[in-house]
Amino acid sequence: MIPPTHPRYKSLKTRDLLSNFTKTGIVTLEGLTAHGRGEAFDYLIGERTTDSALLAERTAGALLRLARHPVISVNGNTAALAATEISKLQRASKALVEVNLFHRTEDRVNAIEHLLRDVGVNVLSGPIERLLPLPHNRAWCRHDGIYSADVVLVPLEDGDRCEALVGMGKKVITIDLNPLSRTARSATLTIVDELTRALPQITKACIELSENEMKELITSLDNHYLLSDAIGEMTLRLSHALD
Ligand code: ATP
Repeated sequence: MIPPTHPRYKSLKTRDLLSNFTKTGIVTLEGLTAHGRGEAFDYLIGERTTDSALLAERTAGALLRLARHPVISVNGNTAALAATEISKLQRASKALVEVNLFHRTEDRVNAIEHLLRDVGVNVLSGPIERLLPLPHNRAWCRHDGIYSADVVLVPLEDGDRCEALVGMGKKVITIDLNPLSRTARSATLTIVDELTRALPQITKACIELSENEMKELITSLDNHYLLSDAIGEMTLRLSHALD
């Protein structure tokens, strides 16, 4: 039994949480493997928010707040790990929240929407259509939600959908611990940080940034710098791993 003070305790608790959510269908087995990949990269970055990730989080807050039609797209892992943080971010950013799933069934969508509503999220409802240029189920979305958004936050995204959204002219913000993924490299803004550390920082930025600070952050957005800094942090830790 690992004591609660041990650094690995939190991730074990998270694993319990996610495996319990597989029983309700909210998290899929594929979602568990995606989480494992995230944990490996979190280990490499030192399980902390780096300075460049914090800059990305503040820029994300600015993009959401200055957007005409911001939308937060939520999948099963995001709902399981961070429903309450999504609710707080929705209040601070005034973004719409829409559930969008790769492994889509009506039961799963209902369970995830129910979980989100239980913690106060105002979840977009209404008819869905096949509106995104994708061959799989993630093409389904709402006309007045993701389809019409100018800025979309897509935490824990897959590369196909991220590329499709960028191709539609949207500003896409992603949260992905893997700076090498297709998503990380194709998004407008990539936050290389763990979801539950990143969301509160984005919310804080939405609340505290002035309009001028927001404009400045957006003007100086450089995703190549954010990705190379994250890779640099991981490389540095690896090269000193045995010191
Ligand atoms: P791509 O299609 O973009 O090349 P992929 O095949 O890794 O990437 P997925 O498995 O769908 O795509 O994406 C999940 C991504 O989310 C992974 O890159 C993983 O590192 C990251 N991830 C998983 N859990 C977390 C988390 N809690 N916080 C931040 N990132 C996470």
